[in-house]
Amino acid sequence: MIDTHAHLDALEGIDEILTRARDAGVTRVVTIGTGIESSRRALAIAAEQPGVYAVVGIDPHQAATPEASKVGELRELVGNPCVVAIGETGLDGHHGAETLHEQRALLDDQLALASDLGLAVVIHSRAASAETAAALAPFPGAVILHCFSEPDLLEPALERGYFVSFAGNVTYPKAQSLRDAATRVPIDRILAETDSPYLAPQPVRGQRNEPLHVLHTLAALAEARGQAPDELELRIDENANVAFGLGS
Ligand SMILES: [Zn+2]
Repeated sequence: MIDTHAHLDALEGIDEILTRARDAGVTRVVTIGTGIESSRRALAIAAEQPGVYAVVGIDPHQAATPEASKVGELRELVGNPCVVAIGETGLDGHHGAETLHEQRALLDDQLALASDLGLAVVIHSRAASAETAAALAPFPGAVILHCFSEPDLLEPALERGYFVSFAGNVTYPKAQSLRDAATRVPIDRILAETDSPYLAPQPVRGQRNEPLHVLHTLAALAEARGQAPDELELRIDENANVAFGLGS
């Protein structure tokens, strides 16, 4: 099993965390940068740990800070062979409606970078589904909608063949609309993630999240879709290989 979205650089005790994950069968993790230093740490972890891949980017929460001017530094990091995508980047109208203009500029810069390099993008979209769909429309590469939480984004995602990644919040009792969305994602486009250390799934809700817990998300997705968990797991692994261009 693969956890397609974790912030390992925000966790302490990575060796123990990855050992616990591997022992449970979660043998691969994509670790996601949120800024330049975070992306450097993600690369260092990926270089050191088998089965860990890095995504580098500047997240939308930093769009109105000096970090947003560092896309050039990002360009220097992407030559590293551990990099499998650009992100996370995107638009957040919940935490930062007042900076949406700057967020869009930062997103566009990173889409241009990914496009130049033929890399996938990992997209954060919250309370900004229409704006996100508009920004992504001209992007030619693979799109991974991380922590899918906006049912309004499902139609464009299905039309355009985006990968749709579900996080721990799909396990929450009130999240029926997300489980419904999960039943509509084609079997070759669905992914699962933890967004560790955030968003721990229902059985461990309130605790610090870690990659091992992607198995709870897998179980919830399998149940919603009426599929066997081990069958869905295989498909998610294959989908991740395609989305991020990983060797299997
Ligand atoms: Zn994240």
